Amino acid sequence: MLETLRHIVQEVNAAGGLNEALQIIVRRVRDAMHTQVCSVYMRDPASGRFVFRATQGLNQELVGLASLAAGDGLVGLVAERGEPVNLEEAEDHPSFRFLPGIGEEHFHAFLGVPIIHQRGVLGVLVVQQVERRRFDESDEAFLVTLSAQLAGVIAHAQVTGVLDAQVLTGATPAKISGVPGAPGIAIGTAVVVSPGADLYAVPAREAQDRRKEVRAFREALHSVQKDIKLVAKNLGAELSPEDHALFDVYLSILDDSTIGKEVVGRIKAGQWAQGALSQVMIEHIRHFERMEHSYLKERAVDVKDLGTRVLAYLQAANQEVRVYPNQTILVGEELTATSLGEIPREKLVGLISVRGSGHSHVAILARAMGVPTVMGAVDLPYARLQDRELIIDGYNGTVHINPRPEIKQRFQQVLDDDKALSRDLESLRDEPCITLDGQRMPLWVNTGLMVDVTRSLEQGAEGVGLYRTEVPFLLRDRFPSEEEQRQIYREQLEAFAPKPVTMRTLDIGGDKALPYFPIEEDNPFLGWRGIRVTLDHPEIFLAQIRAMLKANEGLGNLRIMLPMVCNVSELDEALELIHRSHRKLLQDGLTGALPPIGVMVEVPAAVYQARAMARRVDFLSVGSNDLTQYLLAVDRNNARVARLYDPLHPAVLQALKDVAAVSRSEDVPIGICGELAGDPGGAVLLLAMGYNVLSMNATSLPKVKKALRNLRLSEACALLEEVMAMDCGRDIGRRLDRFLTAHGMEKFIHSPVE
Ligand code: PEP
Ligand code: MG
Repeated sequence: MLETLRHIVQEVNAAGGLNEALQIIVRRVRDAMHTQVCSVYMRDPASGRFVFRATQGLNQELVGLASLAAGDGLVGLVAERGEPVNLEEAEDHPSFRFLPGIGEEHFHAFLGVPIIHQRGVLGVLVVQQVERRRFDESDEAFLVTLSAQLAGVIAHAQVTGVLDAQVLTGATPAKISGVPGAPGIAIGTAVVVSPGADLYAVPAREAQDRRKEVRAFREALHSVQKDIKLVAKNLGAELSPEDHALFDVYLSILDDSTIGKEVVGRIKAGQWAQGALSQVMIEHIRHFERMEHSYLKERAVDVKDLGTRVLAYLQAANQEVRVYPNQTILVGEELTATSLGEIPREKLVGLISVRGSGHSHVAILARAMGVPTVMGAVDLPYARLQDRELIIDGYNGTVHINPRPEIKQRFQQVLDDDKALSRDLESLRDEPCITLDGQRMPLWVNTGLMVDVTRSLEQGAEGVGLYRTEVPFLLRDRFPSEEEQRQIYREQLEAFAPKPVTMRTLDIGGDKALPYFPIEEDNPFLGWRGIRVTLDHPEIFLAQIRAMLKANEGLGNLRIMLPMVCNVSELDEALELIHRSHRKLLQDGLTGALPPIGVMVEVPAAVYQARAMARRVDFLSVGSNDLTQYLLAVDRNNARVARLYDPLHPAVLQALKDVAAVSRSEDVPIGICGELAGDPGGAVLLLAMGYNVLSMNATSLPKVKKALRNLRLSEACALLEEVMAMDCGRDIGRRLDRFLTAHGMEKFIHSPVE
């Protein structure tokens, strides 16, 4: 059964759209369950009715025409209950409703299961049989399992099917929800980035010069044919003649008269070579994947491999310098820090990534650069968006494709308001962050790129609370040398001197993978990351510490911070290595005192060991991004659970408050460098908790300053007391919005434009 289940799911996954997916389901389920009828009813979002969408065994002519309201008939009953209904004689049930012409009068037994996705009933899957016999338990369990597995695929096919049609017409507007990545509105033109040689990630694009594209395709094809002949020749002596035949098959797949001809046909019809190749290859891959015979199924892998090889040649030949439109919105399946670096900053207005969440590294960088971003837009038909007009609402995590003029006008208004607000905030740049009753709160920034430095100084940052040293590591193809690091760190320190710069030692692992130092783990966030990696590789740690200490010479504004510490022994070891490096450098003639050393509180263990840690270091800094992730057991990059990721969850607030109280009693300064510090509402609470420094992305700094200058510490404390008594993060969020509104800061709350 498991094998059958797997095959059906695989086939449905490979389907070209919703209709094809439903056809596969009804055909395969009917065969697998040896029954006479299998049908799918799908909920129509507009009417709420369950429409007869696919069948094997009933009247095909009524497909798309017959429907039942929720609660009406047995299908409606399944949908209403959200549970299977299994009957020996359908007609005897009080809910049974006869649908004229559908042809079910010969069938007696009925089993219907709901198709549920994200708590909502998408449709109902029904099997029926002539025999007057209840489907047995294993049949029911099979159908329930299958339906649960297919729900996500069906939901995705449904949304993308509608969107594809809307987007393709070029005129129909569409709205897609993702999660907020970086705040702000962007109106611009989509540029789709495709990662190296992935047949499934090639954007559809019109050919500029069809003859040139045909030529490029033929050249790529011949290059691959040549490669294969060479491989065959090289292996000739080691292979039996039978094995050798494999290469002949490869060559015939690539033959100009078969796949080659189809690709050329599509190019001549207007598609660029890469798009034509990817479309044709995917169709062939699907065709082979559907085959029953496992040998033929294997052929899908060969076809994919060959297609990828041709694509790689095409992409290598296509590396012309890209011309980016003035208002570029970069769209990709999984945008990375590197893709950000490839486009001139002045042309980039927004980012959309199909995968990832607001806490992915690319989103954190986008916030630092002030680029509105939407993450986790899983339903986005991104490959079709090239050159389309898009609007990004980075406050609410939505994307509008082909927006209607009135929607565009409304977003333009928000954009203009934002600009006016930041002009207004500029006048605050040199003002201190001080509450109406005189409480000072230093506002620092989080940096990673040099571009952050300029922006941060413009926004009036008083120091750097987190310099993510992994960012320059991420942008290279090998570890930077000690001297390269020294220069990079020196630039940061010099730009801010005499203001303090807190450099965090390398925090890789988790979601931050270095391309040249891959860490393959089943559970990377609980694996080898942060201090665990660098203590296991003292050569990396020591080179970094030496580079920092040398960069600090003559400036004296360096602070060193250690990430992901969860045991005091890790802290002791790291401190020992830092002290030793410093002593050795002094012996070699370096001047300068040992910089302050701090530890990040970002795992629950560190919250409970804050006192022991505080006694060993000069400062504490809470990483609320990871602390939220680990306290709530919610992957910060998983769009499926993004709505559970809530830094205002009472458990998180309690931890933040407790750590602040411990640090105060130990007389060790405490800061926070997670995203919560950059949220005006969150900052009010952190002020009241007694945090000494708030470190945030540069974009948020003026807003937080304005918020804190607008209120009294006593009001913040009263608010904190009130929210600490609340037991739901969502209510706390609403309370903070009301507080901001009451203080004339409703512009900091952004509600969605419909
Ligand atoms: C954090 O975890 O809150 C933090 C500031 O570090 P990062 O986001 O780089 O993991
Ligand atoms: Mg962290």
